Amino acid sequence: MSDCLFCKIVNGDLDTEIVYENEDLVAFRDINPQAPTHLLIIPRLHISTLNDLNPKHDRVLGSVVRCAGELAKSLGYGEEGYRTVFNCNEAAGQTVFHLHLHLLAGRHLAWPPG
Ligand code: AMP
Ligand code: ZN
Repeated sequence: MSDCLFCKIVNGDLDTEIVYENEDLVAFRDINPQAPTHLLIIPRLHISTLNDLNPKHDRVLGSVVRCAGELAKSLGYGEEGYRTVFNCNEAAGQTVFHLHLHLLAGRHLAWPPG
């Protein structure tokens, strides 16, 4: 989608600190980090929210989720722990409507979240 911020990142049209990418996804640093490590992992495919998933997306979403774990482990947070979050729509605070998985690590993360 031409007016989608994260599609612009996928297409290389925005200056972003990409930490990993493959044929399914792109992982980059959040511009407004909420923890010492705050990455976003997005499918290359434009999907607006978790509500819009269908069975054809299972493989790519599996890649997105597995990537979060692999990145967390590779950055040394596997044992200590980390959080992964998909915000969906307004009540959860979703602001960018291209599905993204937050990976937060490097500090104690309270539960329940605010
Ligand atoms: P959400 O509130 O779940 O929709 O998360 C959107 C996230 O995207 C927020 O944490 C923002 O800080 C982040 N964000 C917005 N614009 C950019 C950008 N250009 N590069 C990196 N992260 C961004
Ligand atoms: Zn998009």
